[in-house]
Amino acid sequence: MSDITWEENVDVQPYNTFNVPSTARWLVRVQNISNLYELVNSTRFHNTRHLILGGGSNILFSNAQFDGIILKNEIQGIKIQSEDDKHVTLRVGGGVEWASLVDYCVQNDLGGIENLSLIPGTVGAAPIQNIGAYGAELSDVLVAVEAFDLDSGQVRTIPKDECELKYRGSIFKETLKSVMICAVIIKVVKARFYSVNTDYGLIQDVLLELGVSTPTIRSLSGAICLLRRRRLPDPKSIGNAGSFFKNVVCDESIRHSIECVDTNTPFYHKPDGTSVIPAAWLIEKCGWKGRQFDNVGVSSRHALVLVNLGRAEGCEIAWLAELIMRDVQARLGLLLTPEVNIIR
Ligand SMILES: Cc1cc2nc3c(=O)[nH]c(=O)nc-3n(C[C@H](O)[C@H](O)[C@H](O)COP(=O)(O)OP(=O)(O)OC[C@H]3O[C@@H](n4cnc5c(N)ncnc54)[C@H](O)[C@@H]3O)c2cc1C
Repeated sequence: MSDITWEENVDVQPYNTFNVPSTARWLVRVQNISNLYELVNSTRFHNTRHLILGGGSNILFSNAQFDGIILKNEIQGIKIQSEDDKHVTLRVGGGVEWASLVDYCVQNDLGGIENLSLIPGTVGAAPIQNIGAYGAELSDVLVAVEAFDLDSGQVRTIPKDECELKYRGSIFKETLKSVMICAVIIKVVKARFYSVNTDYGLIQDVLLELGVSTPTIRSLSGAICLLRRRRLPDPKSIGNAGSFFKNVVCDESIRHSIECVDTNTPFYHKPDGTSVIPAAWLIEKCGWKGRQFDNVGVSSRHALVLVNLGRAEGCEIAWLAELIMRDVQARLGLLLTPEVNIIR
């Protein structure tokens, strides 16, 4: 007897935070590894393109139809894999909401991911772009991922060192696209051995505002949630996928040429000699922040966030992104790269 259900012509509007309409030819909910074995042994799977979907918070369906199979990751479970005096190692199902994992850690006084509070999406997608915010990244706590290779039908454990995690990227975004991450293993630290990371400027301002002089894992998480709610539009009220573009990493020659255009360009220098220019600054400089066109626009709160003003189709958001990229390149000579995965 079959354990998987092939849902046909599924409306995926509720499954993407841009809230754009699109229909998937097929959708299969993956709740365990057995579902994946059954899936890869089906003829339909081999004859049809597929897309792995978590919470749909970093994806843009740019067409009215996705003529393929969506594998929706719904693998649950947070389990303690091992524990010593200082650390707890957790094995977390790929379909668990990232925010629930953060809550679990905060409630249990485990430090390491509180700076990543309130990032939408699933745990299985977190390694794909090595999620990061407020001075922390998944790579700070990741031990390994358990992945199902959809080509070979094998389960593999991939240690962190082989995940090639970097700023908004990993091996899963570049060369190893055939795997579905089914579980993620992270190592977090017990509160009494942990020092919270409040280095990121804005955090200190909010802690001060909240009257917190000795931040704990819990109060820091609360401060980050407050900061995020203020800075980013909530996808439940206005469709968006967070930052649409990546910050621009540049070498010295590029840095020099942009400084010739504007001596006030902000740079963050990295230990490897490269510099990062905030993409939000470039977009704002070109006058895009807050602009609106029919159904789409650039958030007035944050220039990196493209928004669905209500009835947008995916192609309209893709069009706006393209327009911004061309304009920034023409005016400032820098090519923006989308952080959001555009599905064509
Ligand atoms: C309001 C808002 C704020 C955000 N803030 C941040 C932030 O601060 N930092 C940050 O890094 N990101 C941020 N994001 C982006 C997004 O939340 C993250 O990238 C998140 O990890 C995406 O998870 P998801 O489950 O929604 O992935 P999806 O959007 O469903 O998928 C994203 C990509 O990963 C692939 N994928 C998904 N799951 C798996 C899996 N199990 N195995 C293999 N491939 C998979 C998909 O095919 C797709 O290519 C934000 C988004 C929003 C809407």
